[in-house]
Amino acid sequence: MANLADENKFFADVCKNFDSAAQFTNHPEGLLNQIKACNSVYRFQFPIRRGNGFEVIDAWRVEHSHHMSPTKGGIRYSEMVNEDEVMALAALMTYKCAIVNVPFGGAKGGIKINTKQYSVAELETITRRYTTELIKKNFIGPGIDVPAPDYGSGEREMSWIADTYMTMNPGQLDALGCVTGKPIALHGIRGRKEATGRGVAYAVRECVDVAEDMAKIGLKAGLGDKRVIVQGLGNVGYHSAKFLSEFGATIVGLCEYEGAIYNPNGLNVDEVFAHRKNTGSILGFPGAQDFKNSMEGLEQDCDIIVPAALENQFTEHNIRNIKAKIIAEGANGPTTPEAEAIFTEMGGIIIPDMYCNAGGVTVSYFEWLKNLSHVAFGRMENRYAANSNANLIATLENLTGKTILPEHRLMIVKGASEMELVNSGLEDTMIHSYHEIRETRMNKPATQTLRTAAFVNSIDKIAVSYMNLGVWP
Ligand code: GLU
Repeated sequence: MANLADENKFFADVCKNFDSAAQFTNHPEGLLNQIKACNSVYRFQFPIRRGNGFEVIDAWRVEHSHHMSPTKGGIRYSEMVNEDEVMALAALMTYKCAIVNVPFGGAKGGIKINTKQYSVAELETITRRYTTELIKKNFIGPGIDVPAPDYGSGEREMSWIADTYMTMNPGQLDALGCVTGKPIALHGIRGRKEATGRGVAYAVRECVDVAEDMAKIGLKAGLGDKRVIVQGLGNVGYHSAKFLSEFGATIVGLCEYEGAIYNPNGLNVDEVFAHRKNTGSILGFPGAQDFKNSMEGLEQDCDIIVPAALENQFTEHNIRNIKAKIIAEGANGPTTPEAEAIFTEMGGIIIPDMYCNAGGVTVSYFEWLKNLSHVAFGRMENRYAANSNANLIATLENLTGKTILPEHRLMIVKGASEMELVNSGLEDTMIHSYHEIRETRMNKPATQTLRTAAFVNSIDKIAVSYMNLGVWP
């Protein structure tokens, strides 16, 4: 977690990573500086009534890059949030969207509160007032800037934002596209909640499936024999762990702020989740070893670590204790540039945040498209596909005189549901982007890391957009 000493380092770290990559591109310095800069930083304060008096809330919305509209990114509710952090996270959104070909600029919001200290009614007041402030300054709208969930916020907050925006913009046809990560009942999309974690699992699978790359770090290809430690059992951590184990990996360690547990024979993620819910702590899970110091949990034997909590988890002070060969960044900014340099020296691979956790914004993009088209994916063609598949099978059965097994028929004779279409779009995006990054890494060996290669691709794509806009000669 960012502490006071690091308060102004996160955005500088993102810029440092940008600069390391920019040397492998051919763009004019002015253009590179424009891409790097935060275009609009809106800091505001507003009061809420509390007890017998008032409390002033600090908040931000940063639109990092307007090379594409709308801008896009979550809103973080945390008492640790500060301007530097929101700027860094907004910048990462720009690079992330470019990596996965999602046509948005990057943005991020922050509300400086500890959500546990406020009632639901107070959280609603804060969220609605925050939205109103954004509306006043034209910092929200389906074609302007589209928030989403982030640390400390979820579907409930997104529905308050949508409702406030629609109330203030009566009759605006596309108003629902002003925010994503909404509940299904409010025209959200199936698969959005689990999208970031599912995307992390696809990213890891793509990485470990390349036998040539695994051989270099002394591992076999495939997820089957991989032991994974996940940090954070929030939405991203829980779903990353769940899908990685579904895809064949063994979850050997889980870490939370109260401590960590480790079992070399594997942990059942749902059982651990239920245990934590019932007892209030991850510790004491039957059959697992406890670590009161959460960091110690991350230092246990494993092949892959998924940090899915907050930034600055791996620094030059602790990275040497990490036994994993692969770090898959489910969180934004969990590894400092200094730690990454050491880990790369140690022969490790980092699957960088701007690609690894891009599943969330990818499915947010699908939700936004659904809201703009005012129709759920699959609605027009689902029945048509099922009927034509049935006709095809009937014709084949007639021609061959054979009948297909009922369970096979069920599998073939159906149209795709919204969930299936979303997951297929997400999987395709994660596969395609991984190989695009890996190719740059292979073609430009001096890039050395997947992060630098990802930045090179991202910078190139954003530069093309600026040139197409005619902003740059
Ligand atoms: N907060 C998420 C992220 O950091 C999601 C952003 C979005 O869906 O717009 O990627």
